[in-house]
Amino acid sequence: MGATGPGNCSICQQAISWSQLFTFTAKGPLHFDCFRKQAPSDPATQGVLQALEGELRLIVAYKGLLGKVQNPEEKALLEGFEKDAERHAARLTKMADRAPK
Ligand SMILES: [Zn+2]
Repeated sequence: MGATGPGNCSICQQAISWSQLFTFTAKGPLHFDCFRKQAPSDPATQGVLQALEGELRLIVAYKGLLGKVQNPEEKALLEGFEKDAERHAARLTKMADRAPK
């Protein structure tokens, strides 16, 4: 991972910045928006994508909070929450990626 972002999007080939929502597949990092655009439109896949967007936003929120919170116990808790959200996001990405095209 570079300083400016996680790398180039495996769909649109443009650089991804840390301020954008992104996830990872076997092909590498990719913008959430690019992933959503090429996903099938069935309700199950769209529902998974909606849940994934929520988890990705939570990761951004926890990362932001970690820069503000001073209490070590709260920091440790928030780090755990962020890891949970990352695990959920990874599983949801796999689910959406595996959906029939
Ligand atoms: Zn992209």
